[in-house]
Amino acid sequence: VTVGAGAVLEGVHRHVEAAGLELAVDLAARGTATIGGMIATNAGGTRVLRHGSMRAQVLGVEAVLGDGSIVSHLGGLLKDNTGYDLAGLLCGSEGTLGIVTRARLRLVPSLPERVVVLVGTADLDAAIACFVAARDGAPSLEAAEVVFADGIDLVCAHLGLAAPFPAPQPVALLLECRGRTDPTAELLDALSPVADRIGATAVADSAARGRELWRYREAHTEAINAVGIPHKLDVTLPLREMASFRVRVRDAVASVAPHARTYLFGHLGDGNIHVNVVAPRRGAAVPDVVDGVVLELVAAAGGSISAEHGIGTAKRSYLRLARSDAEIAAFRRVKAAMDPSGILNPNVLFPQ
Ligand SMILES: Cc1cc2nc3c(=O)[nH]c(=O)nc-3n(C[C@H](O)[C@H](O)[C@H](O)COP(=O)(O)OP(=O)(O)OC[C@H]3O[C@@H](n4cnc5c(N)ncnc54)[C@H](O)[C@@H]3O)c2cc1C
Repeated sequence: VTVGAGAVLEGVHRHVEAAGLELAVDLAARGTATIGGMIATNAGGTRVLRHGSMRAQVLGVEAVLGDGSIVSHLGGLLKDNTGYDLAGLLCGSEGTLGIVTRARLRLVPSLPERVVVLVGTADLDAAIACFVAARDGAPSLEAAEVVFADGIDLVCAHLGLAAPFPAPQPVALLLECRGRTDPTAELLDALSPVADRIGATAVADSAARGRELWRYREAHTEAINAVGIPHKLDVTLPLREMASFRVRVRDAVASVAPHARTYLFGHLGDGNIHVNVVAPRRGAAVPDVVDGVVLELVAAAGGSISAEHGIGTAKRSYLRLARSDAEIAAFRRVKAAMDPSGILNPNVLFPQ
């Protein structure tokens, strides 16, 4: 599909649905996020596990560069090795290289059958074992999201929802599979070798129940925002580091902000955890030093300091934790070539 950069994700979903197709990137901000913004941030979302992030969907773009020239390559060919991949370069460029005006996006067939299962476990290691079993045993796996008891309690209080399980579970893993035929048996078979690690399950027996189970995950952002303005750290970790990071990040935050609350949730399938640090009541502040403490921990564990939200202005002083001087120098030369006067998002990405 070829769309204008201002098209909103939800509208694009509706438009291509009529042809039995889907744009494979989906995220909770679907009602406001534009295709241009999603390309500029290389948005990820809940289906990266199966389909990749925005960069994997973009077959071509039209854009205005900083010098006013227009580049357009919208032919939509899958194979096209005719020089530099400008579309790929604009993905994740955070508006620093060009203004995207149109895009040609790959679509995938809409798979009619789905199952959503919320798996409760005693700890994160058990949740990871369940995810790995599902990933290896169920090719129809499309999403694997993780939330924790404190976040679920907050969401339930904020939205007035009932708890998802009869008895509280410290960790909840949300799995979604999709296929041409009902993938429920495939997913449950895949989980059977790790049955002893599972404390409780909630299986959606209808589309409406599936949406309800997703609310426990997708409402985290709004429930946390209702407590206060959070420091948002959006990080990736190697799966093997995830469980120890969870413990260490709470200790690290407590060492500089003892009264803050730290909520973790995210896309377990991609190793992507959102760390949200918020003061326990409105008006109280979390010191900025929290960002550095958390991001240094991530870098030391071999992770990424920005999984999908980008560097922007808030994280640019930390870019050196993730990128070498030589890489940043190469970034600057690319920026100078495409935006010679430095007029596009001049305060974004680069360390001062
Ligand atoms: C509730 C919620 C859930 C979210 N979940 C996810 C998630 O799961 N995964 C994920 O990756 N992100 C997620 N996000 C972030 C979301 O992807 C981005 O907010 C969104 O993609 C950006 O689109 P936007 O139109 O709002 O862009 P804006 O916020 O307006 O802009 C974002 C950046 O892109 C630049 N930009 C915007 N349009 C263009 C253009 N046409 N050309 C060049 N640069 C441009 C802007 O200058 C800015 O630097 C979430 C956000 C919210 C609020």
